[in-house]
Amino acid sequence: MGVFEKIAGDDYEQIVYCQDSKVGLKAIIAIHNSALGPATGGCRLWNYRNEEEALTDVLRLAKGMTYKASISDLALGGGKSIIIGDRKSPELLKRFGEFVQTFGGHYITAKDVGIDSADLKLVKSKTPHVLGIEGEANSSGDPSPVTAWGVYQGMRAAAQVALGNSSLKGLHVALQGLGAVNYSLAKYLHAEGAKLSGCDIDKSKAESAHKEFGLNIVRAEEIYDVSVDVFSPGALGAILNSQTIPRLRCKVVAGAANNQLATENDGELLMKRGIFYAPDYAINAGGLINVCHEREGYNKERAWKHVERIFDTIKMVLERSASENKTPSFVANRIAEERVRKAELARK
Ligand code: NAD
Repeated sequence: MGVFEKIAGDDYEQIVYCQDSKVGLKAIIAIHNSALGPATGGCRLWNYRNEEEALTDVLRLAKGMTYKASISDLALGGGKSIIIGDRKSPELLKRFGEFVQTFGGHYITAKDVGIDSADLKLVKSKTPHVLGIEGEANSSGDPSPVTAWGVYQGMRAAAQVALGNSSLKGLHVALQGLGAVNYSLAKYLHAEGAKLSGCDIDKSKAESAHKEFGLNIVRAEEIYDVSVDVFSPGALGAILNSQTIPRLRCKVVAGAANNQLATENDGELLMKRGIFYAPDYAINAGGLINVCHEREGYNKERAWKHVERIFDTIKMVLERSASENKTPSFVANRIAEERVRKAELARK
């Protein structure tokens, strides 16, 4: 399939292939939409099987960033970059930085899978258009606790709509995964007095959570069967599917994991079961909201307050979903698209 054919209907603004064989760089930078502001999204280093797979991934990720920035009411567009391969050298990363610089700020890069703060420092030696370098002056720090803070706010909003009260005190929450985000989330939930169950394939994490928060450890394959108020996916994608949804015994699904729904139809399945689903890209936007504050001089208090607005976003999405009888994902997408459309009209 040709590239234009592949992007037909989605109107990507720019797809730039970057190559420098001297340093072994093969990268793609995709700008999905910049109507709301500079296209922003991390750089992923991955050993793709072929170029087709790399292109598919960068396009999907860039579009996802447009929706995430838009639903979060940020003055940012959606973009993403990928570097093909499994090795990175200072020369390669600096060369990538030079390509980012050719966009003159129209694309802003950050971390993603395979790229860490030390790598970003090398990228930044060639372009100022980099966000999220931990340990630097003006750094917004580790994104996981603030992502968890956003999920926590979104979970409170979902409880408000589904159960009539935003307090999570006394509610039972099941956490799938107890990694960087969900461990912080467990801390916030425990502090509020929620009862916790959870699992992780890394037993030591589950045991720590048991010791620290009294979390009831569940076997990973049984997490869908626990009778709870809230199920919070914080590990893998595509875990809400035709096999798992019939097993869920909860009123709310609200968690950090990306791409939780295996297919759009799974959003319908959840709705038919009367389960309120907080769309993943809206509830897990805390990291993006936080890092974008670096652009105006990072202030933690201001940034975390901003992240708390995820409460309003999730509440609005779930209320509209209920009143219009459309899935939360459909409603969230429509809100995000509408905001982009208005910005495009204003730009014209
Ligand atoms: P992480 O790698 O720190 O944690 C994931 C945890 O899930 C690990 O402890 C892992 O052992 C566990 N796990 C893997 N497979 C499992 C399974 N089958 N059952 C139970 N546990 C399993 O990752 P993270 O940074 O906490 O991110 C969690 C999710 O949130 C990911 O989907 C990520 O894309 C998404 N997310 C993270 C951020 C962030 O700021 N870190 C932001 C937005 C979205």
